[in-house]
Amino acid sequence: MEGVLVTGTAHAVLDGECARCLEPISDEIEARFQELFVYVEHQTSHDEDDEVSRLEGDLVDLEPLLRDAVVLALPFQPLCEDDCPGLCTECGARLADDPDHSHEAPIDPRWAGLTALTQDQQDPEATE
Ligand SMILES: [Zn+2]
Ligand SMILES: [Zn+2]
Repeated sequence: MEGVLVTGTAHAVLDGECARCLEPISDEIEARFQELFVYVEHQTSHDEDDEVSRLEGDLVDLEPLLRDAVVLALPFQPLCEDDCPGLCTECGARLADDPDHSHEAPIDPRWAGLTALTQDQQDPEATE
């Protein structure tokens, strides 16, 4: 009565990278949308705000509607796989490619200074 109700489904191809390991990923998403486009002549002063979609002559402008629907359907943190282990904090290798990846006795950089301190303290004793 007061406008045209538009309902639709959009399919989009998604290209991005894994939020944990930066591996390129591509996916497809489906976004549904529904919006009432109000006839301009039914416009009243209190719905002057931009919240209301209006018909432009006999046409509807789907672009803002589509953009919002697709953005909402996008994953917040896209992952190459649900349990992606991410990257090695030591060397940056992708852990999914090398699950048994390890480093021999890595020295935590926060303790590296203490190693030098211990050596300094031992030196005077050795000369006495
Ligand atoms: Zn990943
Ligand atoms: Zn590593």
